Amino acid sequence: MADDLSRRALLKAAIIAGLAPVGAGLNAARASAEDEPLVTDIPANSVIITSLEYVNQSPNPEQICANCVLYQGPAEGSGKCGLFREGRVPAQAWCKSWVAKG
Ligand code: SF4
Repeated sequence: MADDLSRRALLKAAIIAGLAPVGAGLNAARASAEDEPLVTDIPANSVIITSLEYVNQSPNPEQICANCVLYQGPAEGSGKCGLFREGRVPAQAWCKSWVAKG
């Protein structure tokens, strides 16, 4: 539990301190996100999908990609996640790196 909280705090700090340029890049990528396959349809993502325990449908409606700080996209449909270089995630998906949007 403490490790999980530390990891989330570090992730938030990294996002605030250093990933702003990534966010800008994601904005550019968002325009074409709907043209991309889902992350689960890209074999190269299999390792990160497993390590993140990622699922296309969250088991918890209060923790979904659409309300995660790493999600860039509409509340409905799908968008980009900063943890995946390729592919898009459904707004209703989830992984264990979920962090609430501030
Ligand atoms: S819940 Fe996981 S897969 Fe979804 S946007 Fe957040 S970090 Fe990415």
